[in-house]
Formats: sequence, structure tokens, C-alpha cells
Amino acid sequence: MKKNIAIIRGDGIGPEIMAQAVAVLDTVAEKYGHTFTYMDAPMGGEAIDRFGDPLPKSSLETCLASDSVLLSAVGGPKWDNMPKDLRPERGLLRLRAGLGLYANLRPARLFDELRDASPLKSSIIDKGVDFVVVRELIGGAYFGEHSTEKLDGEYYAKDIMGYSEHEIERIARVAFETARKRRKKVCSVDKANVLDSSKLWRKIVTKVAENYPDVILSHMYVDNCAMQIVRDPSQFDVIVTENLFGDILSDEASMITGSIGMIPSSSLGDGTRGLYEPIHGSAPDIAGTDSANPIGMILSAAMMLRYSFDMPEEADAVESAVNSILQEGFRTGDTMSEGKMRLGCIDTGMAICEKIK
Ligand code: NAD
Repeated sequence: MKKNIAIIRGDGIGPEIMAQAVAVLDTVAEKYGHTFTYMDAPMGGEAIDRFGDPLPKSSLETCLASDSVLLSAVGGPKWDNMPKDLRPERGLLRLRAGLGLYANLRPARLFDELRDASPLKSSIIDKGVDFVVVRELIGGAYFGEHSTEKLDGEYYAKDIMGYSEHEIERIARVAFETARKRRKKVCSVDKANVLDSSKLWRKIVTKVAENYPDVILSHMYVDNCAMQIVRDPSQFDVIVTENLFGDILSDEASMITGSIGMIPSSSLGDGTRGLYEPIHGSAPDIAGTDSANPIGMILSAAMMLRYSFDMPEEADAVESAVNSILQEGFRTGDTMSEGKMRLGCIDTGMAICEKIK
């Protein structure tokens, strides 16, 4: 197969980890007979410096013309004091909207070899941690009307959380389709005892479920879900929820799996093009030291192979290569523990490429 991949190298450790993801993709292409063509799409701090815009029009066009987009991370102290519209993360929000990406999938899976990195007791993680949070990405309170006004001598601020039927319907479908490729369970998370937007959410998710009789649907209030994720994460397969709840729950979920450097994510819309990125930021504190963990970035590339390119065998090969090097005791600084062998970013990427070959 021939695929065009838009590459956003980003800031801080971004270019270092992206180089390793590209090396892994090249290894996969060679082994399985594919051709991957990479197209640079500057975004974030780098784009502000070069073009005065965190997402230049040409970069969005490159992404729109690609089969899929791979992003490392953007931002850093250099751009922290820029005006709101010129901040690096603004580029990311505009890119998600420009590509129509309304679903964010974040797997929370505990690697057996990294059990020590989880803050949970072994009696809890012994039952297994392997679920996905499907978060609605372009609706709810973050995209509703915001305002601050002076009322009766004091400031009053509000953010409107609203959802339409079609916004709920399309994210619910992503959750059910994802569950079909997994253990066929969806838990829909809301606050339907208090919020109208949640009542509609629950009604529509229940309606969509009728088209997926093979998937078991349950509902849970968000406060209970936050508790259940640390009490018994093994009960979850796919969690689907709105933007704000999903932002919080997906961070909680990633924390229980240990290092932030290990976790990939994907954002999807209609069609097969997606945006794949690790969940961490640009880690300016370790940029340029060859000590970043490239695994979250590499597993993001594996997700791209699986979900956008329909290459499950290739994705499995990358994921098992990652498992193998962890089993053999190789670690980057962030996951290092006694008795393990420390590798830099480049050597970790090379070790994974060797395993794939
Ligand atoms: P961060 O995720 O960059 O770093 C938090 C801590 O985790 C740091 O100590 C860092 O060294 C470590 N870390 C992160 N990724 C790592 C990796 N792959 N390997 C080893 N260690 C790793 O979060 P932050 O410090 O809050 O943010 C730094 C910059 O990144 C900010 O400018 C922020 O706006 C930006 N950011 C970007 C994104 C994105 O592009 N999606 C997401 C979050 C933060």
C-alpha cells in the first residue's frame, strides 16, 4: 500500500521522538512492502517562529491532503506569553476543528513489565487494566459560549455546556465500533441526575445501542466513574463520555498505567484520516538530551497503522516489538528502575526497529 503521512515534528522533544516513529514506520514499510511518504506540516512554536502563525494555511492543507497525520507535541516556555490566538496549542485546536476530528481515543493499558510504575496496589492491578476512553472532542463546555460580566457589583462568568443529538450519536457510534474490536462493552459516563445535556446524552447513546445488540451498554455517573477507575479498572472496556468529563477521566486513566511517556492517542472524525499523538507534552526540560521516551509516539504510529490504514498485522508487530524490549529489561529514564538497562531515545527506537525486522 502507498500512504501519505503528514508529519508535525513539533517543539521540545517532538523532533527527537518523531524521528524514532519515522524509523519504525520505515522498518514496517520495508518488511511488509508498503510505501510511506512523509510530508512536513509545521505547527506550534516552530510555525510561530517561521510563519508567525501556530497553524499556517499550508500546514492545514498538507494535513487535509494526507492519508493521516502524526503529531509529536507542541509548545514550550518560549511561547508561553504569546497572545491567546498565537499560542502553540491554538494551532492544535484549529487543526482538530479543521480536520473535523470529534472523537479522541485514549487507551489505558498497563504493561506487565511496568507494574511498579502504577500508583495502584497490586491487588487492584492484578485483575488487569486495559480499557479505552472515547472522549467527545469538539463540543460541550470547551466549545460553548463563554462570557464574563459584571452583575450586582461582582463578576459573573459562565461557560455553556451543550450537545445536539447528532454530536452525541456520532461519538456513540465510534464507541460501539471500538468496543466491537475489543471486549464488546461500552460504559457511557454522564451526570444525567443533574444535567439536561447528560439526560439527552443518555437517551441518544441508548438509542444508538439498539444497532449494536452484540455490545453490552451500561451507564455510570461521572463522579462514580472517577472512583471506579481507581477502585476496579478491570471492569471497563470502552468508556464514552463528553468533552470535559473525558478530559479529566482520560488523565486519571493514564496515570494509573504509570509513565506519561508510554501512552498513545488518536483523534478521529468521519472517514479514515486521523490525528495520532502521544498524550504527553513537549517536555522542554529534557529536550536535546536524548533521554525522552519515544514509546508513546511509536505506539501512536501503531494506532495509525491499525485504525487509519487497516494494517492490524503491522500494528501488532510494532506493539509486540515494544513489549519485547520492555521484557528484556530496556528502559528510558522515566521508567527506569533497579536492575534494568537504561537506553536513550535513539537507542530505544533502534531496539524496537531491530525487533520488528
Ligand atoms: P509534559 O508532558 O511536556 O511534561 C511533564 C513531565 O513529564 C516532564 O517532567 C517531562 O520531562 C516528562 N515527560 C513528558 N513526556 C516524556 C517522555 N516522552 N519521556 C520522558 N519524560 C517525559 O507537560 P508540561 O511540562 O506541562 O508541558 C510542557 C509543554 O508542552 C507546555 O508548553 C505545554 O503547553 C505543552 N503541551 C503540549 C501538549 C500537546 O502538544 N498535545 C500536551 C501537553 C502539554
